[in-house]
Amino acid sequence: MEMSRLAGGPEFDFIRAVLQNASTSHPLVRVGPGDDCALVGELALSIDASVENTHFRRAWLSPPEIGWRAVAAALSDLAAVAAEPVGVLVSIVMPPGDRAAYAENAMQGAIEAAEANGAVLLGGDTTAGLMLALDVVAVGRAVPPVLRSGAKAGDEVWVTGRLGGAAAAVSAWLAGGNPAAAARARYARPQPRIREALWLRERLALNALIDLSDGLLGDVAHIASASDCRIIIDSASVPIDAEAGATYTQAVSGGEDYELCFTTSPGQVDQMKAAFEQTFNVALTRVGSVEQGSGVAQRAPDGSVSAVEARGYQHFQDKRP
Ligand SMILES: [Mg+2]
Repeated sequence: MEMSRLAGGPEFDFIRAVLQNASTSHPLVRVGPGDDCALVGELALSIDASVENTHFRRAWLSPPEIGWRAVAAALSDLAAVAAEPVGVLVSIVMPPGDRAAYAENAMQGAIEAAEANGAVLLGGDTTAGLMLALDVVAVGRAVPPVLRSGAKAGDEVWVTGRLGGAAAAVSAWLAGGNPAAAARARYARPQPRIREALWLRERLALNALIDLSDGLLGDVAHIASASDCRIIIDSASVPIDAEAGATYTQAVSGGEDYELCFTTSPGQVDQMKAAFEQTFNVALTRVGSVEQGSGVAQRAPDGSVSAVEARGYQHFQDKRP
């Protein structure tokens, strides 16, 4: 069984402490904690909680959007190992006042997101609680999976889509305003890149793959750590979501865009970039390279390279939303 090494940061220190006291080895378990999914036989499994006032505010989203977003975020972890979705299990925690249309509508959005991505509802649980929360188990089939741990020195680093839109929406709301429509859509109805991941896996030797849930710099730190390599991000190449009004900082550390980041040997993507972009209407951008060493660095347009303390989005420290 394989356990992937996580990057630094308080949320990951907590996970490491928990895992010290847990047995994670079993004959059927191929990959345990530490990657985007656990792999049990052919199955890929992941769990993702979406909690009111931590991941969303009710004032920002409609009930179906709350459900959609929770399931889309969970399914994104299937995309992150190139797994084909099978289904989801959804637990919903409802404050007593919500035991009617509100929670039902949130579940409707959850089911819509599952079905839009080829997943069915497999089960769940409902319970009363102080605030609205959805906890989603995503189940997929990964044959073969792509892990975080296969990046090699010399690889190119690529991302799908444009980054920072979801963070731009949150910033606008936190400043008391309303986000641009494109930013709001990125936050409220994220599209997990499931089909894109499967398409890429069929045509490319993907060495390492992750979804961008914590922000580009934080997420590539996981690839660097799991693959025992150093990743250089070319700051001028990062595809900023201009339509959503995102800034560079939001693009590299905002998180929750649920785009994909992968590494592959040089020259491979150039041959299929146009076909990918035409098929999905999603950009494919080279953002950096893999070297020997450890950690993450940014290369400025003037060529200077500076190490990043890659911390991404850490729920335990950041006071948002
Ligand atoms: Mg992930």
